[in-house]
Amino acid sequence: MAVDKKRIAEILASARKQGRLGLLEHEAKQVLAAWGVPVARTELAGDAAEAVRIARELRYPVVMKIASPDIVHKSDAGGVRVGLSSELEVRQAFDEIVANARAYKPDANILGVVVQEYLPQAMEVIIGTLQDPSFGATVMFGLGGVWVEVLKDVSFRLAPLDAGDAREMIQEIKGHPVLMGVRGEPQADIGALIDILQKVGRLAHEFPGIAEMDLNPVFLFERGKGAIAIDARIILGEGAHG
Ligand code: ADP
Ligand code: MG
Repeated sequence: MAVDKKRIAEILASARKQGRLGLLEHEAKQVLAAWGVPVARTELAGDAAEAVRIARELRYPVVMKIASPDIVHKSDAGGVRVGLSSELEVRQAFDEIVANARAYKPDANILGVVVQEYLPQAMEVIIGTLQDPSFGATVMFGLGGVWVEVLKDVSFRLAPLDAGDAREMIQEIKGHPVLMGVRGEPQADIGALIDILQKVGRLAHEFPGIAEMDLNPVFLFERGKGAIAIDARIILGEGAHG
């Protein structure tokens, strides 16, 4: 897919214009998609009828999540429903997700829900970026879940990365053998992972106004089957533009 820098600049500018430094999940995924990073197709629905229309278009099953600039950790707010397979389930999920979010944070500005395609379970990895004040765009990589939360098993490299840098990042983490397949599990699609690491690094390098990116999780399938960002967050820097 062709890179669309203009589209990315527009999405970033539009959030800033609305006084927001945090992009919503569907906006962050639009930025990534315009840069050629594979993402789960995701659209914003303002009401239940729109959610049903989008679900039909994406095909069941779908996933729905709360869409609010004031709710960052959507699961914590009871704001994620996975594997919805009918119009009735989508309608019920819409009401439940919004009610849960209101209970969790009564003053949250709720825009609706995002509806997205459901992806089969896979290995979960996380890919992030930050802007180091002295060295600039930096990429972080780790395995998801306990690997990052408990063991802090992550690696860092300055962007832009060549394929060798990306490969080193992957090899450096303690959990690396898991990616190569343990106990008869198939090897993960390392090529797809290298591609995303490089692309994300290049995006942060070329758009220094992106203070932080967080792709968490990225579903990583077995060799030849690719990888895809399931959740994404982008935070813009104060003052900085571009
Ligand atoms: P949070 O804001 O809580 O991080 P996520 O969007 O990461 O919300 O969703 C929480 C979990 O739900 C993910 O880690 C993943 O396991 C599952 N999930 C989310 N979206 C999808 C999807 N499109 N397909 C399959 N599973 C999903
Ligand atoms: Mg997440």
